[in-house]
Amino acid sequence: MKIVVATTAGFCMGVRRAVDMVLDVSNLSQEPIYTYGPLIHNPQVLEMLEEKKIFRIDKIPKKGTGVVLIRAHGVPPEDQNELKNAGFTVINATCPRVVRVQVIINKYAKRGYSTVIVGDEKHPEVVGLLGYAKGNGHAVTSMAKFLELPKFKNCVVVAQTTQNTVFYDEIKAWCKINATHYKIFDTICGSTEKRQTEIRELANENDAVIVVGGKQSGNTKRLAQIASQTGKPVSHIEDASQIEDETLFSAESIAITAGASTPSWIINDAVRKIERNIQKQHFSKTFLFISRDFLLKTNIMAATGAGFLTYACSMLQGIGPELNHALIAMLYVLSMQILNNLLTIKSDKYNHPQRATFYKKNKIFLQALAIISGATGLYLSFITGALSFIILLVMSLLGLSYNLKIIPLKSRKSQITRIKDIPGSKTILITFAWGTVTCLLPAVSNQSDLLPVIVVFLFATGLVFARTVFFDVLAIQGDRITGKETLPILLGEKRSFNIIKYVLIFDICIILLTFFTDLLVNSAFFLAFIPLIMLLLIRFFKKNNLISGVHQEFIIECSFLVTGLLTAVIQLLM
Ligand code: SF4
Repeated sequence: MKIVVATTAGFCMGVRRAVDMVLDVSNLSQEPIYTYGPLIHNPQVLEMLEEKKIFRIDKIPKKGTGVVLIRAHGVPPEDQNELKNAGFTVINATCPRVVRVQVIINKYAKRGYSTVIVGDEKHPEVVGLLGYAKGNGHAVTSMAKFLELPKFKNCVVVAQTTQNTVFYDEIKAWCKINATHYKIFDTICGSTEKRQTEIRELANENDAVIVVGGKQSGNTKRLAQIASQTGKPVSHIEDASQIEDETLFSAESIAITAGASTPSWIINDAVRKIERNIQKQHFSKTFLFISRDFLLKTNIMAATGAGFLTYACSMLQGIGPELNHALIAMLYVLSMQILNNLLTIKSDKYNHPQRATFYKKNKIFLQALAIISGATGLYLSFITGALSFIILLVMSLLGLSYNLKIIPLKSRKSQITRIKDIPGSKTILITFAWGTVTCLLPAVSNQSDLLPVIVVFLFATGLVFARTVFFDVLAIQGDRITGKETLPILLGEKRSFNIIKYVLIFDICIILLTFFTDLLVNSAFFLAFIPLIMLLLIRFFKKNNLISGVHQEFIIECSFLVTGLLTAVIQLLM
């Protein structure tokens, strides 16, 4: 059975912008924060906002204080003025594409034109748009209603940005024949159009469709409608808990899409649950899936990868295989990653709900595992040498203090009290820590020459950086909510992907360049395949969809195992 996730599933630009704006205000402002109406039509996001003490107001009070954010759908101009007059600071998060429709209506309404909006008059976006029509606006949801309208002398026709494209095309076609003087504008948002086209195609190509998103969300409901028109079974769910197994068991392939207001963590969770349900059909696959899932959740997979990477780094420097160092790296990574997951159960609730549940359920076992592995790693470094021990101790203390309030600096604009609060700190710290245990510790205890150490350190940290930033991009929405400062949050997804690309290209170049020097062992240039494969994989995942599933995580984590194995094969053959 195959799962295909629509590349257009999840937050659109306007919704993402509105959610980012409200979270930014909440991180910087001490004043009460409200949204005027629900920020978006998604119950989980609204629940998350309430947890962050961002409340909604549905009626404008006579007097008020604090910040009010206008949602992506926009509001009538009178409401904005009323909010300001009541004493609120108004932040307008109306989507720029909705603003464009407001501007069109306003411009023509001022010239005395009537306005026809193809959309649901009760939908907040349409309510807002009607506010610009100077009392001469009409909303229609069917051809019959449109034909009931009088023939206007001057009229502008627009569509709700999430309207069904096929229906709007019918209206446009009618106007072109019967009301040629009407001014018609293409106002359906490109993102809506793409989403609808994609689900139509996916529904035709697959046996069943799952649409993820709020039951109140107009655009999500429309996706379900469009998929149903193909005659395929369609299930509209709000989250993974509503997935019905029968839909899955009878289908050979399932297409998954999500509305513009569905956050990625809900889609991720649904994909993971479907993957799990599919694997349950076959015992061998179930066993494989559960094992993979367990290795990923417990971080044993990441820790093993660190061990293999240490082996590769040592061999590249000509140190030779030393089990001690591979074990130190494994134990350090295992301990730090588990502790980090234990401390961030709250953000995992958004990014990885199943992992959060797993950590809650097995808290004592995992705490013990983290402490024992951390202590064993320190003991092994102690018997390796005093300098190794000191370096590992410092790295461990740095890792442990990551979430603790240790920085006294705090001002109205800057909320930095922990290493965690420093922009980009998570990504940089993980990369540096891995580079230290996989490359620097073996080099220190073997007193390697500086130049080869620098080259291998750059190579290893380049791979770790790419892996970490990729996972951070997958978790960007949950991290934003919980205030984690990752590089993708600081720079945005696009720039983060560009940086991954340049870092991996740099990795390929430095390894290839060593072929012309005697800095590393002769066969080192073969390892240029690893950053190349990572580059291609990340490009592939990015192109298909940035949804985090067990397969993606497993494949990326495997790159370090492959690095170690490839090194071993090269050593055997050379
Ligand atoms: S669907 Fe389009 S118009 Fe509507 S909020 Fe999203 S990006 Fe903006």
